[in-house]
Amino acid sequence: MKRKTVLITGASRGIGRAAAAAFAKAGYDLVLNCIHSEKELRRFSLELEEDFHIQTLCCCGDIASYAFVCEMFEKVREFCQGVDILINNAGISYIGLLSEMHYEEWERMLHTNLTSVFSCCKCAVPYMISQKEGKIINISSVWGISGASCEAAYSAAKGGVNALTRALAKELAPSNIQVNAVACGVIDTDMNAALDLSERKSLENEIPAGYFAKPEEVAAFLCQLVLAPSYLTGQVIRFDGGWL
Ligand code: NAD
Repeated sequence: MKRKTVLITGASRGIGRAAAAAFAKAGYDLVLNCIHSEKELRRFSLELEEDFHIQTLCCCGDIASYAFVCEMFEKVREFCQGVDILINNAGISYIGLLSEMHYEEWERMLHTNLTSVFSCCKCAVPYMISQKEGKIINISSVWGISGASCEAAYSAAKGGVNALTRALAKELAPSNIQVNAVACGVIDTDMNAALDLSERKSLENEIPAGYFAKPEEVAAFLCQLVLAPSYLTGQVIRFDGGWL
């Protein structure tokens, strides 16, 4: 039987990298993307090929660019016709007052965190429709639900991802394609590397579970989510240790 293929954006580190390792271990072929760390991503993908006897394709480039996403899916068509599972994970954060944010920074946030989801879904869906099945998981944030001070653009983008998830799930349910989002709380990745020890401690105290989740915990959940019954769609699932 043909192995299923998962495309993960932003797979060079953090949640995306952990997800790549978990899906490889589970026997999926992989299409991996990141923006800068091309050599590192290729080395990592070769390790996964050797360890788990799977096939991988690396596509490095800027997911905020619609032209790049179209090129990436051209390569995907040659590699495996299309992807069965799309994980829109790549994202960037911005911390600062809205009044001090430049228009270009706002645009960059929205294109990287939200437009990229539109672009990848648009390119992935035709193959899924032809196969009469597919799964899309968008990695979102609790800030997209509640909003965060000094993270207005990030919150707006992730709120957009949540709304896009719900709307697209309705549009694609008749085609047996499920669209869900995982709204993460605090995950222990480079995205939070700027926190000093006391900021980290006070944030941990706010989280009922008492700690930052490991990226591997998110990855394990993603592997379970793709196996969930097809009736589970249009959900924004909080993965936040009870925080919000
Ligand atoms: P990270 O900074 O460790 O990794 C981000 C990944 O995205 C990297 O592989 C990077 O290359 C890639 N990326 C960034 N911009 C890109 C672009 N323009 N094109 C292609 N790839 C790009 O971050 P992370 O913590 O692993 O975050 C992954 C996702 O989880 C993001 O969408 C983030 O918003 C979300 N999230 C993270 C947390 C957290 O606490 N870490 C919380 C909520 C949501």
